[in-house]
Amino acid sequence: MPLLVMKFGGTSVADLARIENAAKKVRKEVERGYDVIVIVSAMSGETNKLVGYVEGTSKLYDAREYDAVVASGENVTAGLMALRLQEMGIPARSWQGWQVPIQTTAQHGSARFVDIPRANIDAKFAEGFKVAVVAGFQGVSPEGRITTLGRGGSDTTAVAFAAAFGAERCDIYTDVDGVYTTDPRVSSKARKLDKIAFEEMLELASLGAKVLQTRSVELAMRYKVRLRVLSSFEDTDETSGTLVCDEEEIMESKVVSGVAFSREEAKITLFTIEDRPGVASAIFGPLADAGVNVDMIVQNISEKDYDDAHPGAVTDMTFSCPINQVDRARKAMEDAKAAGLIGYDELIVDTDVAKVSVVGIGMRSHAGVAAKMFNALAAEGINIKVISTSEIKISVLIDRKYMELAVQALHDAFELEKA
Ligand code: ADP
Ligand code: ASP
Ligand code: MG
Repeated sequence: MPLLVMKFGGTSVADLARIENAAKKVRKEVERGYDVIVIVSAMSGETNKLVGYVEGTSKLYDAREYDAVVASGENVTAGLMALRLQEMGIPARSWQGWQVPIQTTAQHGSARFVDIPRANIDAKFAEGFKVAVVAGFQGVSPEGRITTLGRGGSDTTAVAFAAAFGAERCDIYTDVDGVYTTDPRVSSKARKLDKIAFEEMLELASLGAKVLQTRSVELAMRYKVRLRVLSSFEDTDETSGTLVCDEEEIMESKVVSGVAFSREEAKITLFTIEDRPGVASAIFGPLADAGVNVDMIVQNISEKDYDDAHPGAVTDMTFSCPINQVDRARKAMEDAKAAGLIGYDELIVDTDVAKVSVVGIGMRSHAGVAAKMFNALAAEGINIKVISTSEIKISVLIDRKYMELAVQALHDAFELEKA
């Protein structure tokens, strides 16, 4: 039997009526002759509520118990979806991660897949079941504990199942009808893309476009999964939505394909550090050990002896990290200072920042993208605090209050509303 993976996100299963609507989409594919693996998220808002319960109980929580609590949202929707399909006369059952069993690493809260053995689900398909409804976002560690994959992780469950079961396609049903040039909630001029290259989608996702979890795109790229994003609220067919695919399949070639943004950024500056070999390592080593994901880094040019108490050259170091890691970063720096590994006069945290990025594989072969980007921001009077670039993206850190304005200005400057 040909097999499809269909994933329904939180808003697509937000209540019983929406679960029924999603089940009808599944029924349509079953009627076309597919076996279907359905991956479900928790009902929208449910995971946030569960995270709140954990944080309200224990500030420095045991990550294994966090996972036990937070994974439970998906169990509810998996069971309800299976029941709804049964009501429609479709042989279906639910699977929690451990029942498959979905084997992951023991990195609680951000576990990675190790193996998805097919035997149990294949046996049920062989018995005549048409649909396996699998709880997204979860798995089981080598120690037999429940794990979760990080927020938005059901996308990754879907792609991993599509790879493991050789699915014809992995359809991600969500509350938008595809991947847009930028978040349609921020720019009314955002344009839906028919296709987007894996590399571009990977950058957009990792730079904040949460329509797909970054890891899901990585897996799709590695295992050549045909990945599609489409609306769960509209009538859809084979041509709907956005296909995430190899660069070679795409005719349209723009220098910039999309604008991404992230509000969840913070900027930390260490003032007056020594400018000597090894100082960066003495700062970023402890940050890495503390699990801080440092993103952008700027080191100022050196100033000479600024007073008698500080002989030798000095400089300042600025870096950005996710806003919820600021406390950890601060503690790592204070501990490193107390241990005599680094010296600084002051540590300043700025949490009123946002990162805005332009992404496009065309940048590899075009000059002037950075200049155009900085021009567009300057024209709006937006000051750039930090810049970072890679082969196919340019990111800037700016005041958060200008984020929407920056996204719109860049969308206009690169004429993304035009096909
Ligand atoms: P789900 O609950 O279905 O997983 P998410 O909220 O995780 O849905 O992802 C869908 C949301 O992603 C959309 O509602 C949209 O606001 C946001 N989004 C951000 N960037 C983009 C983009 N470039 N294209 C489409 N949607 C985007
Ligand atoms: N329910 C989880 C979350 O909200 C996983 C997901 O929806 O993909 O992050
Ligand atoms: Mg999501």
